[in-house]
Amino acid sequence: MSEWFSVDDSIAACQQKSPLDALETRMLLSHVGELSRVQLITQSDRQLSAGQITALNNLVQKRVDGEPLAYLIGEREFFGLSFKVNPAVLIPRPDTELLVELALQHTPDKASLLDMGTGSGAIAISIAVQRHDLTIYACDISNDALEIAKFNADKLLKDRPSIAFYQSDWYQQIPPQRFNTIVSNPPYIVKDDEHLSQGDLRFEPINALTDHADGLSAYRKIIGDAPAYLAKDGWLLMEHGYHQSQDVQTLLRDRGFSEVQSWQDLAGIWRVTGGRWLA
Ligand code: GLN
Repeated sequence: MSEWFSVDDSIAACQQKSPLDALETRMLLSHVGELSRVQLITQSDRQLSAGQITALNNLVQKRVDGEPLAYLIGEREFFGLSFKVNPAVLIPRPDTELLVELALQHTPDKASLLDMGTGSGAIAISIAVQRHDLTIYACDISNDALEIAKFNADKLLKDRPSIAFYQSDWYQQIPPQRFNTIVSNPPYIVKDDEHLSQGDLRFEPINALTDHADGLSAYRKIIGDAPAYLAKDGWLLMEHGYHQSQDVQTLLRDRGFSEVQSWQDLAGIWRVTGGRWLA
């Protein structure tokens, strides 16, 4: 057997012995071969080294064993941007783009915004890329997550106004001040939800997925202290699970929020709930 294999041969060989679909195989090969997905097509006779083939086979096996593609290639696209990810951060989901859209709509010019539990920074950075006029803060309790978020901010914001990052257990380390908008995609999966032991979720940071309780404890904390951190007329907007909009609405109303409402994502699921602080 020769020591070199073409892109096409490698894909064919992988396809033959693994149940991965062609797109995923190509994405892994593109990562291993340091070739863009277009180059895989335009340079399909390009040769890969035996080392690269071994690396590809290892990644294919990991993927077959269930590891998320995003962790294997180290990136995931969100809101048209490529975010670095690793197992310290939740993999950004398309559903969460709704929260970004709503934050953009509800935040006035030259305002300030806080993203709580930023993870990879996907939400805060996507907003910052669109809106250079905003002052943006983001926090996470995990230092490992913040390292990824800062890397993504450096890469994607370059010379644009950056984001002030804080390692903080919710509001604890946030300097006292009032924000025009607060956003969050907190851990909201209920403790014993069977999904936690299935699929990609098995590989994601457990503390980003579940509150180890009824799925609502993060909302109680975020909503409970929000009045001390929201400017007058400011919005608090939060992503949640498909069955949680009524519970989150109730928490907001009980805390004295106005204009409480929920929004559906592209799949028709009630995905984001928010309220306005008029006091
Ligand atoms: N949306 C994720 C899921 O259900 C959960 C993320 C979260 O808890 N914030 O897979």
